Amino acid sequence: MHCNNKNMRVPSPPGLRMRIIALLWKAGEEAFAEIDAFAWVQRWEIRRTWHTHTYRDTRFDALTACKVCSAKGRCPTGLPCRRCRGTGRVNLLEPPASRRPERPSGGRS
Ligand SMILES: [Zn+2]
Repeated sequence: MHCNNKNMRVPSPPGLRMRIIALLWKAGEEAFAEIDAFAWVQRWEIRRTWHTHTYRDTRFDALTACKVCSAKGRCPTGLPCRRCRGTGRVNLLEPPASRRPERPSGGRS
């Protein structure tokens, strides 16, 4: 600590810097508290800095390119890929489309 001309204690520059950083972190945590709680309930990944919070749904890790159609969504015949249903990507958390029970489509495409 340093003393100013009124003999008051003033925090040294490194101590002042740490206090400012701590205040910014605290303000950030309070500003993001509600959405952080929502993200925590959703089991999202949260990355924090003092001024930004980034949220990511870890279920995106289960998405991968379809190996049957090389992520094109179409077979060499031109028909939509049955494995990925024409999307070009597969969700590893879902059973393959060909093993699912058929849903009534209500029409032809
Ligand atoms: Zn495919």
